[in-house]
Amino acid sequence: MKKINQYIDEVFTQQDAVLDEVLASIKEKGMPEISVSPAAGKWLSMLVAMTGATNVLEIGALGGYSGIHLARGFGKDGTLTSLELEDTYAEVARTNLAKAGFHDQVTYITGPALDSLATLAKEKRTFDFFFIDADKGNYENYLEACIQIAELGAVIAADNVLARGSVAEDTIEPRKYTETMKEFNRKTANHPQLESLLLPVGDGLTVSQVKKKNESRAL
Ligand code: SAM
Repeated sequence: MKKINQYIDEVFTQQDAVLDEVLASIKEKGMPEISVSPAAGKWLSMLVAMTGATNVLEIGALGGYSGIHLARGFGKDGTLTSLELEDTYAEVARTNLAKAGFHDQVTYITGPALDSLATLAKEKRTFDFFFIDADKGNYENYLEACIQIAELGAVIAADNVLARGSVAEDTIEPRKYTETMKEFNRKTANHPQLESLLLPVGDGLTVSQVKKKNESRAL
């Protein structure tokens, strides 16, 4: 898995001074080095561009690495709303998005994402692309909250769904993290309002499209 990912990153992604600087800023500030992989970032960019999404919501900003990829997907024509628990991380992400040329297209909302999602729902805000990449224990809650504020046909992507490959292993002692992601995968696979597939990019990225309840085909 690690070797395959290294190979994909090497062949399909390029050296990028802006993104290298983001990773350096995360390291320098002692923040966790858990940004999406280069290939997963590129895939997010491509998904936003391919779907023509212009109103993107991210859950889990960290230093803005995935945020830059998402913003590059919509270029000058969209906005990113990013939910982040930590004020200091949101500040780093804001600085990095500004350096990447997106300062007037990104809004950070700090605090627990579930609260922020409830506020966005109350304000009747809607989005056409979502990226879930925060605390894994809330993934199922995030998924339902995103569906509530999704436009029909919106895409919901979620990272780390392979839990470092452990979801596919038979272990005698199930680990909480693995079980959480397995449950999330079952949920996205069988949700009556989603058409979903898990792609083995980075640590696994599920891509779902929001459809009418129980519609038998993808939009
Ligand atoms: N998406 C980022 C990237 O690839 O550049 C990485 C995000 S990192 C894996 C997870 C982020 O979620 C952290 O910045 C963490 O502070 C944030 N987080 C954790 N729990 C949260 C919560 N309850 N609400 C909002 N953000 C949360």
